[in-house]
Amino acid sequence: MMDKLVKSEVYRFLFENSNDALLLTNPNGHVYRANPAACEMFQRSEEEICTLGRSGLVDLSDPRLASALEERATKGRVRAELNFIRKDSSVFPTECASAIFQDEFGETWTVIILRDMTSIKAAEEASRRAQEESNYFAMYDYLTGTLNRRAFINKLHEELSRSRREADPFSILLLDIDYFKRINDTMSHACGDEVLKSVASLLGEKLRPYDTLGRYGGDEFIILLPMTTKQTAGEIGERLRSHIECSRMECEHVPISVTISVGLACCDNAPDEDVDALIMRADKNLYFAKQKRNTVFGQ
Ligand code: GH3
Ligand code: MG
Repeated sequence: MMDKLVKSEVYRFLFENSNDALLLTNPNGHVYRANPAACEMFQRSEEEICTLGRSGLVDLSDPRLASALEERATKGRVRAELNFIRKDSSVFPTECASAIFQDEFGETWTVIILRDMTSIKAAEEASRRAQEESNYFAMYDYLTGTLNRRAFINKLHEELSRSRREADPFSILLLDIDYFKRINDTMSHACGDEVLKSVASLLGEKLRPYDTLGRYGGDEFIILLPMTTKQTAGEIGERLRSHIECSRMECEHVPISVTISVGLACCDNAPDEDVDALIMRADKNLYFAKQKRNTVFGQ
C-alpha cells in the first residue's frame, strides 16, 4: 500500500530527487520506504533502513525525542531538532519534520523529513568561536593576555568614579622594561616577545587578586591598585621591581637579565584630576625612574 504513495510520477520525482531524507513510516516507527537521500545520509541501503526501523536510526539517548513524538501524536505534526545515527555509529544533528496522515483506506502512516545539519551546526559553532575570539581580543592583549590599553583605561575610569564616590584613594604604576630594545637587537624579536610574556606573568604572580594588570603598549605595563595609598603602592612597586630583577629568564638557552623602571601615581581625589592627568603624572615619575633605571619613583 505504501508503495502506492510514491507511484504517481510527481511524488516519485520528489521522493527520488529530494535533497532531504524522506522516510515513509508508521506511528510505531516501522519504515516502509527510504529515498536515495536517506540512504546517503545513513550510509545504508533502503532495505537496511526498513529493517532497522526508526528506533535503529534515531539517537534514542536524545532527550528531545520523547517530546517530539508526543507533540506529533497530539498535534499530528512536529518540527524538531533531533540526532540520528549513521551506519558507522557517528551521530549527526538533523532538522526533522514529521506528520501523521490517514489514507483513503483509513490506515495511519507517517512521513519523516530529515535535513542534515552537520555543516550548518559546524558553521554556527565556528561563527560563535570567532565572535568569542573577537570579544576576547577587544579586551585583552594578544601576546601577554593582560588587559589591552583601551580596556584598562575603561577600568581606570570606573575606579576613578568609585574612588570619588567612596572617598577612597587608589594608585597606578606605570612600568617600562629597561633596555628592552637590546634584547630584540642582540637576540631576536621572538625572544623579546618571550620576555614580554614572562614579565607579564611575573607581575601577575605578585599582584593581589583585586589589582589589574594591563599592557600599555610596547614594553610598558600599567597596574591599577584599588584602595591603595601612595605608601603601599610604593611597597608594591618595589616588590614587583625586585621580583623581576631576581627572576631567572632565558631564551634559546641564553640567560637574560631583565629589570623594570616604575612610575607611581596615587589618586587621592583632587577634584580636577582625571584619568589622563593621573597617567601623565605616573609617566612623569617613570621618566624620573628611568634616569636611574631599575627604580621605583613617586613615593
Ligand atoms: P629604556 O630603558 O629607556 O626603556 O630603553 P628600551 O630599549 O627599553 O627602549 P624603549 O622602551 O623605547 O623600547 C621599546 C621597544 O620595544 C621598541 C620596540 O621595538 C619594542 N617592542 C614594542 N612592542 C614589541 C613587541 O610586541 N614585541 C617585541 N619583541 N618588541 C616590541
Ligand atoms: Mg623600555
